[in-house]
Amino acid sequence: MEAKILVVEDEKDIARMIDYNLKKEGYRTILLHDGSYAAMTAGKERPDLILLDLMLPGLDGLDVCRRLKADAKTSRIPIIMLTAKSEESDKILGLGLGADDYVTKPFSVKELLARVQAVLRRARPATVPADKFKVGTLELDISKVEARVKGTAVELTSKEFELLKALAFSDGRVLSREDLLGKVWGMDAALEVETRTVDVHVGTLRKKLKSEGKRIITVKNYGYRFEGQ
Ligand code: CA
Repeated sequence: MEAKILVVEDEKDIARMIDYNLKKEGYRTILLHDGSYAAMTAGKERPDLILLDLMLPGLDGLDVCRRLKADAKTSRIPIIMLTAKSEESDKILGLGLGADDYVTKPFSVKELLARVQAVLRRARPATVPADKFKVGTLELDISKVEARVKGTAVELTSKEFELLKALAFSDGRVLSREDLLGKVWGMDAALEVETRTVDVHVGTLRKKLKSEGKRIITVKNYGYRFEGQ
């Protein structure tokens, strides 16, 4: 089955050009011209990749990206952002919002297709979520909901375990407090639970992980990053 690609682009000519060329390569496509329904559509259709324009009516590309990454149903779908300027692109990657790549407009069909192929190829193994995670002396067993440091089980609350899981599986990306609230406490809770809650939980999690706690790195004024090396 060929990969299914969701294209969110309000400029109709560009959208048509992308759609035409993706189909020509055998991909299946879904087109949206507005950001408002992008996250919902992604949740329903489960595309293999999302091409997401930055400047969109309704909800802009960054907000759509945030929503996608905060929802467990869509957080693993790779995203290629379409941006107007390279400075914007740098900002997007720097924000750690989880975009996998970006293409700067105007782009050639050849360049776009090359990026699409590369991101899809990288994403393939990740479609089967890993059940076990090991770095240093820290081990996570997702199906058993178990964390060990130096072979000794660490007693974690369910929220602490989910928090550790979200951080450990973030591939070194910076996660904002809002990202973590969405992942661990759920989208709705993200509106009600204070972001300070995340800091408190990170604090206890660090203590409980002892020597491995230092892997959770504070990114000032933004959130947290997990040091996997
Ligand atoms: Ca646009």
